Amino acid sequence: MKEREEKIIRTIYHEETNRFFKSIGLSEKLEKGELQCNVCGEIITVTNFRAVTRKEGDLLFCCDKELCMQKFRT
Ligand SMILES: [Zn+2]
Repeated sequence: MKEREEKIIRTIYHEETNRFFKSIGLSEKLEKGELQCNVCGEIITVTNFRAVTRKEGDLLFCCDKELCMQKFRT
């Protein structure tokens, strides 16, 4: 039962991520694996995408690693 609930939450989360990337016009780049984590350089996917910020006109992305999130916020 618990496993099933987690699956549902994850699906909703992915749909929101897809919608978000579509809204900023980068869903194609996301699908092609052209976006990287600004901290560790890992390819950003729907699964590991965690955060985004805008810096001097550039969009910077962060994956879901705890270390990356910590560095990304500072
Ligand atoms: Zn990272």
